[in-house]
Amino acid sequence: MIDRYSRQTLFSGIGEEGQRRLGNSCVLIIGCGALGTIMATSLVRAGVGKTRIIDRDFIEYHNLQRQVIFDEDDIKNQLPKAIAAERHLKKVNSSVEIEGIVADVNYTNIERCVRDADIILDGLDNFETRLLINDVSLKHKIPWVYGGAISSYGMTMNIIPGETPCLRCLIATVPAPGLVPTCDTAGVIGPAPFIIGSLQTVEAMKILVGAKEINRQLVCIDVWTESLDRLEIRAHEDCPACQGKYEFLDGGFGMRATSLCGQDAVQVLNPKVAGLSFNELETRLKAVGEVTYNEFMLNFTVGGREMVIFPDGRAIVKNTTDESLARGLYAKYIGT
Ligand SMILES: [Zn+2]
Repeated sequence: MIDRYSRQTLFSGIGEEGQRRLGNSCVLIIGCGALGTIMATSLVRAGVGKTRIIDRDFIEYHNLQRQVIFDEDDIKNQLPKAIAAERHLKKVNSSVEIEGIVADVNYTNIERCVRDADIILDGLDNFETRLLINDVSLKHKIPWVYGGAISSYGMTMNIIPGETPCLRCLIATVPAPGLVPTCDTAGVIGPAPFIIGSLQTVEAMKILVGAKEINRQLVCIDVWTESLDRLEIRAHEDCPACQGKYEFLDGGFGMRATSLCGQDAVQVLNPKVAGLSFNELETRLKAVGEVTYNEFMLNFTVGGREMVIFPDGRAIVKNTTDESLARGLYAKYIGT
């Protein structure tokens, strides 16, 4: 085992003591896309004692361009991302524990998911779940590393409960649905999440080994223009999460999906949405699927799935009774 990590323990920032600390650590990675796969493969190779990976999705061909641990066999075998990640990484390092969990992380289960975690790493694509992580992190005093990447840019920030501002100090609430670009509408090139995922990994290592020099700013990088900015984030005096009000964890802001009785459809409700602009939504969605709309509803078809969206933000996903799938589609194409 000493041989396996010899090049890392030679580095003074880690050393033998740091390596021992990594070996005694439990890391939780929520979301196993481009960011999640980079962080998972790096931390398992670095000798983190236990890595828990949670993701709700299956692997598709358009994931292989940037989600570095998956391959074509995983798609042929129809493996969920969390399971494929666990299988691949166990071959990389059999001396550590790796646990893949297929689940939709939400306010009903997140406190179970974070049990015994020393740090939470964000591999997500939506702010709804990030603000939920933020709540659970502050409540249970578990540090977390925010990260996001899209197009050619991305950003990351460490949230250390009691020491740094939190994500809710930075963004008061979930951005309005339909207005936030996602990888499914704006695209993404691999190097953007690779760099952000690598920065999240190194911050996680520093936090786990107890290094002093952890980053306390919001770091923004554009790989296309090769620019890097550091922004000072101030604690927001009205931040509910910092004052111990965990509104996302309490479920008050949550997106709800309900299978419609007697119909082969699921309704998704989003209490945060006051009014959707079909005009803006059409502009964004017609790049990826078929859109028709009138003043009452918007019909959107993508990948064999059909959704009907209403101006109040409500959506009905047809031909399924799978609530998790419906939430996922909503998060992917409408927003969170
Ligand atoms: Zn805060």
